[in-house]
Amino acid sequence: MYVTIGKLFNQTVQKFPTKEALVDASTNQRWSYQEWNEKVNQLANAFVESGVRKGDRVSTYLFNNMEFATTYFACAKIGAVINPINFRLKAQEVAYILEDARPSIFLFEEMLEPHVAAIQAKAEDTSFWCISKNCPNYAVNYHERMKDTSINEPNIEVDENDLYAIMYTSGTTGRPKGVLHRHRDMVEQSLACIAMINISENDIGLVGAPMFHCAELHCCFLPRVHVGATNVIIHHFDPKQVLEVIDRENVSVFFGAPTMWNMMLQQDHASYDISSLKYGLYGAAPMAPALVRACKEKLGVNLIQAYGMTEMGPAITFLSEDEQLTKAGSAGKPFLNHEVRVVRPNEHGPSEPEDVLPPGEIGEIIVQGPSMMVGYYNREDASKVAMYKDWYHTGDLGYMDKDGYLYVADRVDDMIISGGENVYPREVEDLLYEHEGVLDVAVLGTPDEKWGEMVTAIIVKKDEKLTEDMLEEFCKSSTALADYKRPRKYIFETELPRNASGKIQKFLLKKQFKRDREIQTP
Ligand code: ATP
Ligand code: MG
Repeated sequence: MYVTIGKLFNQTVQKFPTKEALVDASTNQRWSYQEWNEKVNQLANAFVESGVRKGDRVSTYLFNNMEFATTYFACAKIGAVINPINFRLKAQEVAYILEDARPSIFLFEEMLEPHVAAIQAKAEDTSFWCISKNCPNYAVNYHERMKDTSINEPNIEVDENDLYAIMYTSGTTGRPKGVLHRHRDMVEQSLACIAMINISENDIGLVGAPMFHCAELHCCFLPRVHVGATNVIIHHFDPKQVLEVIDRENVSVFFGAPTMWNMMLQQDHASYDISSLKYGLYGAAPMAPALVRACKEKLGVNLIQAYGMTEMGPAITFLSEDEQLTKAGSAGKPFLNHEVRVVRPNEHGPSEPEDVLPPGEIGEIIVQGPSMMVGYYNREDASKVAMYKDWYHTGDLGYMDKDGYLYVADRVDDMIISGGENVYPREVEDLLYEHEGVLDVAVLGTPDEKWGEMVTAIIVKKDEKLTEDMLEEFCKSSTALADYKRPRKYIFETELPRNASGKIQKFLLKKQFKRDREIQTP
């Protein structure tokens, strides 16, 4: 009964009423916890007056802003289920989610309006609310609607077992899946993050990664609210603005996906004083050790890594700043109250949790923890397979070392089998990142008659003079890569397809190769 997201929010408000809670870095709007709570209550009451009931979904198609932050807790207080949607998705992709989630209310902002009319045609039972001043005539104006509602706490009993969120996965391997979480799951995740990341009311966090993604929302933003820290929000990630705001607001913690840290390294970072940054966090995708080192040497930032997935709330393992040196490349040890195993993969169904592999052997990573999802929305069969025998089967491959540190090798779907040998793209990518002429890289298996799959590297150049021969020589002379893992083909591109969580969408690259091949062989 006690641990709900709304109740913990109220506790923070009671404890730190006048403390700065939210800052909009673009407009310099600043709210104390008390002021924010009044907005949260007004919005919660506006939702109730508009007919939203416990269990109804409220979707957000928003960038990072105060309205998103407010909606998040307004939903929590009335037992509505928040459904954050990736702002990079276009009309058809959003419509797919709405057909699945069937929200009562859909919140959007002006910049995304061009996609919204087409979405609306497919969601007749949903009320569209716009958070911007210039709303289209078919939408309810968010600010108008809450202007005259009460600032008092809504009188709705919410239980810790009530559903609290439907978070859609990143869609890195295919269509996004709706992950269901209860209030208690997210409270557990938040408390584990507070313990592991060691934050307090004295911290100032920068919300620069997308708030619709669970890494920012549940591992960074939510725990900071629970301890009474300040959240400074930027509308969307911009590497220069991140450096500027860290300097100006004395930010102490910032989470970025590896690609975001890479973009910050390409800026004129020496012009900013970012010494207030106590920690930099990264996760959501692997980060090459060369990039971790560059952040330390060039930005002076100590990085902490978390590994996880939407289905687990998300974080499950953690690598501290000291361990970055002693256990470089590892994803760390399990979070407080979490368990991780590496088991023998089963080709014919889910892997057996009892079939644990010895240290050093690569297998499927399976995990348990109190924030594990209830299941996928509307996908009972997929849920049963994913949570076979109460272990979440991650679909990631990895191994455990003898000290209990987890190493994520790659996704099951991305492993390359070349001439009967397994090649983990991440290993090859980590080496190529060490070359100073390489800005970005994706390694994948492309169809090959002789080897089955050929190790192929797609490279974005940092230095225009970089050639295939230089990379071939670099890999050949490395003592870190066996011959059969060496790329046999290099392709130079100007950018790689990444989703909003910064992950390379290899399935798109693979599709591209398949198409090219079909065109070549009529
Ligand atoms: P989908 O499930 O729709 O294909 P997704 O798996 O990318 O998308 P998320 O839940 O956002 O959706 O991401 C979880 C995945 O991200 C993990 O399964 C893992 O492959 C990868 N990942 C997350 N953190 C790390 C990390 N620290 N190191 C390596 N990989 C990571
Ligand atoms: Mg996944």
